[in-house]
Amino acid sequence: MAFVLRLPRLIYDDMLRHAEAERPNECVGILAGTPDGVVIERYPLVNALASPRRFESDARSMFEAEKCRRAAELEFLAIYHSHPTSPAVPSKFDLESNYCEDVMCVIISLLPPLPDVKAYWLTATSYTIAEYQIAD
Ligand SMILES: [Zn+2]
Repeated sequence: MAFVLRLPRLIYDDMLRHAEAERPNECVGILAGTPDGVVIERYPLVNALASPRRFESDARSMFEAEKCRRAAELEFLAIYHSHPTSPAVPSKFDLESNYCEDVMCVIISLLPPLPDVKAYWLTATSYTIAEYQIAD
């Protein structure tokens, strides 16, 4: 059975707010939850590059988030980041720096008229669409 990420509406909305708040730069964060894909917590990270086109998880913010995640006994399910001015499609940079093939990559595009959120499985050279659902 295919893995489906289940995102509570409140966490989804907070993720979009994070993307808006970091404009014009890309935001980055972690979604953690149960092994079957239910997101329980969102851990915003600091984009060490503070760039509109690239992101790199700041080591200190990643360390703090991982400490909280492990203490809460949650799985690392997805890493999300924003594309302030481009579509929600993985960039060459995203593929080259993909965190891990077992971790879903969620991209939030802020291109008008509406934010667009898509999820992917990345490898170093390609990507496939991953499935997520928003749960109320
Ligand atoms: Zn990207």
